[in-house]
Amino acid sequence: MQKMSIFDSLLDKVWQIARNEEDFLTAFARLTCDRERVAMILALPQLQDFCVTDGFSGKCETLAEELRLRGDKLNLETAASTIDPAHATAKQALELYTSAIRVAPQGSMSLARSYKGRVQVLLRTGDTDLALRDVKRALGFQLPPEDAIKLLSLAASCHQHKRAWDQAEKVLQEALDKLRNSELENNVKASMTGEIISQLKTINHEKQQDNLKKKLKKTDSEPRSGSWGIPEVTYGKNADIPAASAALRLCFSPQKGRYMEATRNIKIGSVLIVEEPYAWALSREAMAQRCLHCCRLVPAPIPCTQCSTVSYCSEDCRDTGWQDYHRFECHVLHHLLSAKELSKMALLVYRIAVTAFARADPTSGDGNLSQKSSAHERDSTSTESDPRCDYPSSVNSPASFPFLSSDYASVHGQVTNSGSRTPADKLKRATSAFFLMKCLRHVAQDMTDDVEMTTSLLRHLQSCSCNAYQITEHVVPDGDVRNATQNELGGGAYPTVSLCNHSCNPNVARHSIGRLCIVRAIRNIRKGDEILDNYGPHFLSHDLEERQKYLETQYFFRCICEACSEKWPTADRLHEKVTGYKCIHCSMNIGLNLLNLKTCPHCKKKCDYGKIAKRLRVLAREYDRALEDLLHRRLHECLKTCVEYCDVMDSVVVHPNKGFVKCQQAVSLCWSLLGNTNATRTNLTFSL
Ligand SMILES: [Zn+2]
Ligand SMILES: [Zn+2]
Ligand SMILES: [Zn+2]
Ligand SMILES: [Zn+2]
Repeated sequence: MQKMSIFDSLLDKVWQIARNEEDFLTAFARLTCDRERVAMILALPQLQDFCVTDGFSGKCETLAEELRLRGDKLNLETAASTIDPAHATAKQALELYTSAIRVAPQGSMSLARSYKGRVQVLLRTGDTDLALRDVKRALGFQLPPEDAIKLLSLAASCHQHKRAWDQAEKVLQEALDKLRNSELENNVKASMTGEIISQLKTINHEKQQDNLKKKLKKTDSEPRSGSWGIPEVTYGKNADIPAASAALRLCFSPQKGRYMEATRNIKIGSVLIVEEPYAWALSREAMAQRCLHCCRLVPAPIPCTQCSTVSYCSEDCRDTGWQDYHRFECHVLHHLLSAKELSKMALLVYRIAVTAFARADPTSGDGNLSQKSSAHERDSTSTESDPRCDYPSSVNSPASFPFLSSDYASVHGQVTNSGSRTPADKLKRATSAFFLMKCLRHVAQDMTDDVEMTTSLLRHLQSCSCNAYQITEHVVPDGDVRNATQNELGGGAYPTVSLCNHSCNPNVARHSIGRLCIVRAIRNIRKGDEILDNYGPHFLSHDLEERQKYLETQYFFRCICEACSEKWPTADRLHEKVTGYKCIHCSMNIGLNLLNLKTCPHCKKKCDYGKIAKRLRVLAREYDRALEDLLHRRLHECLKTCVEYCDVMDSVVVHPNKGFVKCQQAVSLCWSLLGNTNATRTNLTFSL
């Protein structure tokens, strides 16, 4: 039986206190602010000796060697067979070497040999750039000369595969030099020299052939996981809110709190927000497949130098991640990931705290979170927000500009909804905050005040459940878009995106590119309209009752969007046919026959509706072809048609309309597929 995680047993202890000591919960329930709740937990005599020790899976040479040898065995089998290189065996060998690399101690020979093994697999699967990176890593060790020379020969093969003949020749010359200067036995020298000379000959031959053809094949100069096209915001950058488009404005009203509004007419498809999170965290499952720092898929990852839990795409990501946050979590990560009762937001909350802590001004001499924040003054007043209101509001006070995603104040000000939470909920969160503080205390002894830190952690444990956003990927099994599903990779704190309120019929759609959050207009938005995101329950998929219940329990507000107030039907009850058209000027219903209509019967303004009707007919035909494009992942082609179709429909069709929402969904899927995708999700994990 597995040992209970230290958080789970801590929580058990607190529940016990709540059960056994009659006045405890009553007194806790009576407290009016987070600071008092934290003080009460910290004063509990039963928790005085609670402390966190190292909880992380470190390195193990024996295990690394075992995994590597299994990899070598598979590798030999694959090399001997003529089967497809992408075959499961090659994949398994790759996984074994990667697992070996993850657990091999820094500087150990088993690490170098595992890299070397992985080079051979990557070369066979055609991932030559990844292979070359591993060559470089392995050559960084004091390898025995045979191993180093073999690696150079593998590097030459990679260059050869890329038709980079000069480079191939150069590394082989280097190999020959090394061989000459080595103290290997003469017969070994002779045989190895023979092999290199023969490789050089092949290269020379291929080079000449290539020169004859004068036709260079396209090489895979990018790692397979690729570089993304990160879009820029449409209509220029917003001077006050750098992550947002200039077409948006941040407003404030006592009823709605902060909200975003359009300062001009916005076309469907426009990019409205491109935001880097203040802090983010991958889920445990995603950590096995993606870079901890940039969230790219990593077919050949490198590990943390200390733990064997996390993976990176490159040394750059590893070093930046270490400096920014991982040094504070590496040795306690296991505690955070293994607790059953700890919220899945816990790591994100921890990251918010350490990000603020790491960015603290070193000259100030303390890591006191809330004192660095301009939000501190309004802290005490905004802690207990109005328990029920008709509007979802991210923050209860106006913002100061520029509103920066990297500014702790942007995250600190988010509402906690403490006032609406039950005492048990608050007690669990306060215990979690206490635990996270103890973890941080374990790795950062210079952290000053326990009460301050725990209070900040408690604040974020509450605000993140209403303000954090998922980082997502689209899983496309065997490349078939029809079976695409969305998968949660983790979560992030996106202060700018958080400024958008909810609607069950949103006018924007969100998707992830790496850890970035991209928000685009999914309808035409008129000047003065509010920017409305969807917090989860969409009118198509959830009926009114489900939506209201979800939003009340999770976000503590009653939704009054058009879908809710007009009781729109869900997708299965939505009519296939258009129920009516509307005037492009006054939005009044103008009936079903557009063909000969030139003037609106209500506002009398002119418009050639016949022309619009004809365009709709053409687009309806092109839409079928666009769906074919979508199936074949010709996303930009698909988008071109679907965005225009949505645009024209949106201008005249009375909502809700099935054709319109279907087309919207195609558009949204295309955007998602341009972001994080994953062809297959195979969980090849070995009994570690
Ligand atoms: Zn990375
Ligand atoms: Zn680590
Ligand atoms: Zn609603
Ligand atoms: Zn009209």
